[in-house]
Amino acid sequence: MCYDFDVNSLGVYVQVPFCQTKCTYCNFHTGVVSAARFAPYVDAMCAEMAGYRRFYAGAGVGVPEAVTGAVVDTVYIGGGTPSLLDPEHLRRMIEVIGDTFVTDFREVTLEADPETSTAEKAVAWRAAGIRRISFGVQSFCDEELKAAGRMHRRADVFRAVPLLREAGISNVSFDLIAGLPGQTRESWQESLEQLVKLQPEHVSIYLLEVDEGSRLGAEILRGGSRYSAARVPTEDEMAEFYETACEFLERAGFHHYEISNWARPGFESRHNLKYWRREAYLGFGAGAHSFSGEQRWANAHDAAAYVAAINAGKLPVEQLEAVTRESALEEELFLGLRKLGGIDVAQIERRYGVAVEPRFERLLSAGLVEREGSWVRLAPSKLSVANEVFVELMK
Ligand code: SF4
Repeated sequence: MCYDFDVNSLGVYVQVPFCQTKCTYCNFHTGVVSAARFAPYVDAMCAEMAGYRRFYAGAGVGVPEAVTGAVVDTVYIGGGTPSLLDPEHLRRMIEVIGDTFVTDFREVTLEADPETSTAEKAVAWRAAGIRRISFGVQSFCDEELKAAGRMHRRADVFRAVPLLREAGISNVSFDLIAGLPGQTRESWQESLEQLVKLQPEHVSIYLLEVDEGSRLGAEILRGGSRYSAARVPTEDEMAEFYETACEFLERAGFHHYEISNWARPGFESRHNLKYWRREAYLGFGAGAHSFSGEQRWANAHDAAAYVAAINAGKLPVEQLEAVTRESALEEELFLGLRKLGGIDVAQIERRYGVAVEPRFERLLSAGLVEREGSWVRLAPSKLSVANEVFVELMK
């Protein structure tokens, strides 16, 4: 390996790129397809997992034995809306992971939409080995959900969470989005209060992303009135919503451990921490990303093309790139700093044999980062402008 890379465990990510409808703000590569396409997709993904060594060899991907032999302790089934699948499909995917890798599952997450969750599914998910549900709640205000093109309403979330609890799922995460059309200071506060009532173990808060990749983003950039772009809060308002959430969630007993993530003690996402700690993960399915320490790569996004390629014995890999020493160092800084605990600069300097300290001088004097011994972290009051720190660091 071109630099010192520790392999303690391995994460497996499974991508299910199907949704019931397309939310107006969504810039992911997901599609609304007939349910008849689910089974062939699951078959292809299981074939990719079971035969991954052969597929990687054919695609020029080289994964060190230390990675393939590592214990898989986290599985994340994301999307898309994987809760649309038949629970039997999910059970089979987890079984194939167990048959293919050395496993000691500590966290198996399923992303789910509240309206696709039923009592029967919750029981079947648990029986399949799923222990954590990440709900795409986004807002507790029906007007905002409607404007964003979501299928569920606040009542669906209140109906679904007890079903999970009754089925024995004791780790539930909620996503909220700051910046939805029609969102106000009052409605944001209302969403936070409703969220806390349901007592999730984990919360993720994302700011609305504005780019050409979503219908709402394109309307904000180019004009129009179909997706309520004119009712999207300003950037300053979004930053204020984020800061309100930081204070509110802290008072409610959540530990803020990553820029966008909060958890009750002990419920930090083990799988997502691998991304910020630069630990190895293998992604399966259309559009899934992987990181072996030596290389990063992604599978092609188009689900139909992915299924056809796998059935023809080929893995459609895109964006295969070697991780250089320089890019590894940059990742250490901007991924590591996303964790509120920060990074150990002295350890990074030892590991890479370069001086990193000078890169922080201007940021320290501007009060954007703080220092404690050899640790540097984002200043808690400046989290909403973290991007400025990352831009400055990469200069
Ligand atoms: S459910 Fe999620 S992935 Fe699907 S369209 Fe909506 S935001 Fe995108």
